[in-house]
Amino acid sequence: MALVPCRECGKEVSDAAEKCPYCGISTPSKKRRQVKLIITAIVILLLIGGGAWAYHKVTSIFAPATAEDTTSVPVLDKTVPVKDQIIQKDYKRKVGEMIDSDKSVGNISDETGLSRKEIRKIRKEKRQKEKERKAAEEAAGK
Ligand SMILES: [Zn+2]
Repeated sequence: MALVPCRECGKEVSDAAEKCPYCGISTPSKKRRQVKLIITAIVILLLIGGGAWAYHKVTSIFAPATAEDTTSVPVLDKTVPVKDQIIQKDYKRKVGEMIDSDKSVGNISDETGLSRKEIRKIRKEKRQKEKERKAAEEAAGK
């Protein structure tokens, strides 16, 4: 049992009082109960909303690529977790840019979430392509 302000006159009355002893209104603490109910309802709605949002996030992260994406999503090493594989559609280009900016494999791994093994693989492919391009340019120049 606690003292609450009467919803009508504002004087302190028991929350169990059926009638306010000052103004005579019935259930003087009712307003407070309604506020409590409203707060409870808001909390529940927020929890449901938050849950739905989190569910949407999780399912969109793990959802398989849609048909239109398949051309641009490269297939990676199967040892790399799915979440790492879909971190960027053009992750190879991004990783390439990071390699060009002299970032270490460890730094790139931390920033992208890709494994070091995968980054080394991309670096190797990138160097191989550059080598081939140079060779082709030289061949064309002659
Ligand atoms: Zn009252």
